[in-house]
Amino acid sequence: MLKLDETRCIGCGICEDQCPFGSITMTDGLPVVGQSCNLCGACIEQCEVEALSLKIEKKSQHPQHHLFSGVWVYAEFGDQGLADVSLQLLGIGRSLADQRGVELAAVLLGHQTGDAAAGLIGHGADTVYRIDHPALAAFTDQCYEAAFSELITAHKPEIVLAGATAIGRSFIPGVATTVDAGLTADCTSLSIREEDGALLQTRPAFGGNVMATIVCQDARPQMATVRPNVMKQLPFDSQRTGEINDVIPKVQLTSSVEVLESSTQQRAAINIQESDILVSGGRGLEDEKGFELLAQLAAVLGGKVSASRAVVDAGWIPYPHQVGQTGKTVAPKLYIACGISGAVQHVAGMQSSETIVAINRDPDAPIFDVADYGIVGDLYEVIPKLIAEIERQRTA
Ligand SMILES: Cc1cc2nc3c(=O)[nH]c(=O)nc-3n(C[C@H](O)[C@H](O)[C@H](O)COP(=O)(O)OP(=O)(O)OC[C@H]3O[C@@H](n4cnc5c(N)ncnc54)[C@H](O)[C@@H]3O)c2cc1C
Repeated sequence: MLKLDETRCIGCGICEDQCPFGSITMTDGLPVVGQSCNLCGACIEQCEVEALSLKIEKKSQHPQHHLFSGVWVYAEFGDQGLADVSLQLLGIGRSLADQRGVELAAVLLGHQTGDAAAGLIGHGADTVYRIDHPALAAFTDQCYEAAFSELITAHKPEIVLAGATAIGRSFIPGVATTVDAGLTADCTSLSIREEDGALLQTRPAFGGNVMATIVCQDARPQMATVRPNVMKQLPFDSQRTGEINDVIPKVQLTSSVEVLESSTQQRAAINIQESDILVSGGRGLEDEKGFELLAQLAAVLGGKVSASRAVVDAGWIPYPHQVGQTGKTVAPKLYIACGISGAVQHVAGMQSSETIVAINRDPDAPIFDVADYGIVGDLYEVIPKLIAEIERQRTA
């Protein structure tokens, strides 16, 4: 909490000018702190008369801290079956559980979930907690929140991971509140701190300009969401065995929301996250016509065209093509960056690609730091040669 000592404040207004979030307004000669204050402390550093201070209320350790054990992954199940992100989370979940020497469990909520539980075991789970119930057939926050919170309270996992999908973003914060835990949203990396086994949750902060690592020292479970395609799923292993626990919820699964109809929207024609090959263009294309050349390269490779934010902002290509922190996270087999400098916000969205090729005329462009293969040259000279060579090899 930000505290003001009115006896010291001289009403100079420096704090109002210095607040990076515009959260302070001078009213009747005194600073009034608004809701957008995130306690960054910038105003405290600038206050020459030390009228501002921060009172941090430390949360005490969960009384049953030592009883929490195991890593859990929320397995999102819908009309299309299991969400890819849930399988990807089992990949990182497996590694976290192995480092901690604990079990990896998946939580499957839904109705008529078929062989989804077996799929979760094949992708790395040791145990599946399954609640297959008619009230969970259509997603509602209240029913999903109640069912998941009850499981957490009963079994006490130390770590809970979920996908930052529309559904995950909707009900996981409610679960965290119900079980009195914190929640770190949109993590890009997760690891275990060796000294005490705490979960290190890394995510972009301050508009992506810094990567912040968040540790929930005292609350349990430690909860995090991760965007699709940030983590890698393990290959399916049909020989893996595990336990499937069918749970009958004790809480009444009721919701004030009645789902009358559910219709799947036509998928956008452009879904760059599903393509194995992406040919991505940046400001180096010089104008929107450059995308015609990229489309030719994408066509001979059987891929799709994506882009940096600079060219989306310039209106050369629509937003669904954007890769990066404020666009889509992609992990294709092949990512060809053409005339893209490699800003951190762009790299955050494509660094998990299997093979990265960069074409840039600047040999010092940062994109070459993440590229597996780099071509220094003018893309308008390089790409036609690439297309010609691919076609020649096809017909040879
Ligand atoms: C909060 C925030 C969020 C952001 N989110 C994203 C995001 O999601 N995605 C994203 O991409 N960016 C994002 N950005 C913007 C990012 O910081 C960069 O500004 C952007 O990625 C730059 O795009 P670019 O590489 O196309 O352009 P530039 O940085 O201008 O790079 C153009 C490159 O093309 C090369 N070049 C020029 N001509 C040629 C040629 N003829 N042949 C070969 N190479 C050539 C140049 O050497 C240069 O390296 C974000 C920024 C902020 C602050």
